[in-house]
Amino acid sequence: MPMRSSLKLFTWFGIPVHLHWSFGLIFLYALWIGYANNLDVLNTIWLMVFFIALFACVLLHEYGHALTARRYGVRTQDIILTPIGGIARLERMPEKPMQEFLVAIAGPMVNVVLAILLFLLGKLLYQGDRWMLFNWILEQNMTFGSGESDPEVIEEVGIAATGLLFYLPVLVVTNIALVVFNLIPAFPMDGGRIFRALLAMRMGRVRATQVASWLGQGIAVLFVVIGLWKSAFTLALIGFFVFTTARAENNMVRLDALVRRFKARDLMRPQFTRLSINDWMQTPIALLQQGLERHFLVFDLQDHLIGVLEEPQIMAAMKKHDLSAEIGQYAKPQVNVVTQDERLEYVFHLLQQRGVGLLAVADQGELVGVIDQAGLQNFLRLNAG
Ligand SMILES: [Zn+2]
Repeated sequence: MPMRSSLKLFTWFGIPVHLHWSFGLIFLYALWIGYANNLDVLNTIWLMVFFIALFACVLLHEYGHALTARRYGVRTQDIILTPIGGIARLERMPEKPMQEFLVAIAGPMVNVVLAILLFLLGKLLYQGDRWMLFNWILEQNMTFGSGESDPEVIEEVGIAATGLLFYLPVLVVTNIALVVFNLIPAFPMDGGRIFRALLAMRMGRVRATQVASWLGQGIAVLFVVIGLWKSAFTLALIGFFVFTTARAENNMVRLDALVRRFKARDLMRPQFTRLSINDWMQTPIALLQQGLERHFLVFDLQDHLIGVLEEPQIMAAMKKHDLSAEIGQYAKPQVNVVTQDERLEYVFHLLQQRGVGLLAVADQGELVGVIDQAGLQNFLRLNAG
């Protein structure tokens, strides 16, 4: 999610908390509920306070994940609050199944603790009739399951139970609902991660992710169908989100496994054109037009690798019709050299993130091949299927 669309609230435990712009909709929603149920100003304000408290619970849930992950050396980039929930953006998930299990379950556990604490707070604040009313609201909301404030309840108990006496038990129920909902084994929801971690203890991580992802996508489709059928659009939206992330996560884990299995030598091209520093530019221009190679290694007269000539430089010479210029004029003096045993992860990093056009591959000081974007794409096409 781009940072432009969100507002930074504060930094806590070294983790910035962002509010997604669409969060403003929550307050419009509160105003609308207030209006639709004829709530007075005070109760409308209470409703908003309730939403703020609810998202404080969601935020603490995310901190449960983030701070547990920190124990295993995984940092959290930030936490984003959106109307459909919070997202703690961990830089990665710990790969030991037990650690992933604990990180995933820490969030819902926070809500279990919050539900207990809020319940005890109610017991502390209310006695007699008011405590009975507290429990009645609790039961009413439990049977509705959703934990949302039901207009009927507001009407029935509105006079006797307003403000905190009404919203505190609703908040208890909401925390229980958050636990139940998050434990649904739909990857990448917490329950799905817990499920994947448990599977990964028995089968490999790739296979476990695949199974968890299938289940997640199945449940996500159910969410969307039920959501549209019952006009519960939030559920449909969550279903859509779960579906796309389950797929993406599955692809990522597979790519990750691929990257570990292979080394630089597996995608290097041993045949490549060697350009001499005092050749004319017309040679690379002609080669580029043939379309097989787009970047070239450049050698000096003693056949030492001294630079690289990339497509943009060749294009520039082509535009200026600089056909008889020496290659040395256009070549870049830096060459990225990797050994043939280099991990693919680093090769990916250079080609994808750093935008390097051509890598030289060496074996004990000897140049043995090159890797370029086309080679990388080809490798992915052949091996990721
Ligand atoms: Zn969670």
